[in-house]
Amino acid sequence: MKIAEILQQAPNQQQLTVKGWVRTFRANRFIALNDGSCLSNLQCVVDFEQTPETVLKNITTGAALAVKGYLTESQGKGQKVELIVEEITVVGAADPEQYPIQPKKHSFEFLREKAHLRVRTATFSAVMRVRSALSFGVHRFFQDRGFFYVNTPIITGSDAEGAGEMFRVTTLDPKQPKTDEAGAVDYSEDFFGKETNLTVSGQLEAETYALGLGDVYTFGPTFRAENSNTTRHLAEFWMIEPEMAFYDLEDNMNLAEDFIKSVLQYVLDNCKEDLVFLDERFAKEEQSKPQQQRSKMGLLEKIRFVVENEFVRISYTEAIEILQQSKPNKKKKFQYVIDVWGADLQSEHERYLVEQHFNAPVILFDYPAKIKAFYMRMNEDQKTVRAMDILFPGIGEIVGGSQREERLDVLQERIKAMGIDEKELWWYLDLRRFGSVPHSGFGLGFERLVQFATGMGNIRDVIPFPRTPQNASF
Ligand code: ATP
Ligand code: MN
Repeated sequence: MKIAEILQQAPNQQQLTVKGWVRTFRANRFIALNDGSCLSNLQCVVDFEQTPETVLKNITTGAALAVKGYLTESQGKGQKVELIVEEITVVGAADPEQYPIQPKKHSFEFLREKAHLRVRTATFSAVMRVRSALSFGVHRFFQDRGFFYVNTPIITGSDAEGAGEMFRVTTLDPKQPKTDEAGAVDYSEDFFGKETNLTVSGQLEAETYALGLGDVYTFGPTFRAENSNTTRHLAEFWMIEPEMAFYDLEDNMNLAEDFIKSVLQYVLDNCKEDLVFLDERFAKEEQSKPQQQRSKMGLLEKIRFVVENEFVRISYTEAIEILQQSKPNKKKKFQYVIDVWGADLQSEHERYLVEQHFNAPVILFDYPAKIKAFYMRMNEDQKTVRAMDILFPGIGEIVGGSQREERLDVLQERIKAMGIDEKELWWYLDLRRFGSVPHSGFGLGFERLVQFATGMGNIRDVIPFPRTPQNASF
């Protein structure tokens, strides 16, 4: 039986077998056993006089055990029930001289180097259970609303996705690729007969499916070869990209807000024990920071705040006005001072809006066309596009989305102005030729959502095996 289930049982001396890993073994008597099913350990009480020495010496942190016994009310504090052990089998020993995860506080940096074992710690197991629940919450939200799950390609032949630097996919010999007369690599010899890359977004393909299935979403791996060594960027991350026919930007913002609230409510309802633990961990970490850098709210408080309050919605133009009037701008405390309309917002500006000015999630919309992608719908003013970004406290941008340009001539003009080869996008333009409709969508970076829900400061700690510049171990 799994420990999560055992801990729900009334202790009636019932016989049980439980299998898991030793977290600690105290006083030659108390094993804290964990099987990953929940945060709590099951206390297993050993009679060391009845237990062979060969078994006892292998009950060490990290060892795998199968334990048979009966469930009673616990004599000690700290737990309601405990297992009185009758028989122990050591399934897999763990040499205590070598097992790196000891029952003490390890730094997250240290644990990243032991990423194959870190899920055996309380923090990482809690984070990964919450991650799993969030991903179920994502599917549930969309499936309940009649959206279809589509799988867009991971290897892409289009270099117009435009969202970031790409990783090349090739079977050419890196030492001696065939070249043409001009010395350029001849990709006609490559596996696909053309240049291919790992996808930076499934949006363009998702749009084709929205214009046939109606409402669709993707949820898959995404790759960006940008050299961003931040606590919010991975080279490989998971993105959720819904795309909806007949939605305008307003509908899009409403859906994004409902979506985020729904998945967070889902983990509040289903991950209580893990979230309470992560809330305490978060509070301790905040305590160790200087006063001004501490989060104003606790983890659970932050999640509830997001679920219960309306997101602030302001246009880019209003945001620029607020930023221009702000103290850090006037005192030139921003690294990038906002002086003109049209400036791209840096994360310091986003953080100011979200953490200082509004102290709430903010949806910014109607950005200057110049700083946004070619596919976003042009507004009447001919200056701004129907883009929207959702900014979160402590995270920054969590969602980027837009209403898409559905007018063929306007889109062609934009593509030209941006210097993109129209031929590359023939199939995308076809959507505007045959039964084009207003439509919208957005992309949410799943790991940033997991960061928000778990209070983990570094994105490397919310994905099992992070890929970042100079690091693809495991
Ligand atoms: P940022 O400005 O933070 O780099 P972006 O503008 O590149 O984000 P989009 O291209 O709009 O982001 O991608 C949609 C979403 O994917 C973002 O809102 C964010 O949640 C997530 N995201 C983008 N890049 C990364 C990354 N390198 N690692 C993890 N998540 C990312
Ligand atoms: Mn980016």
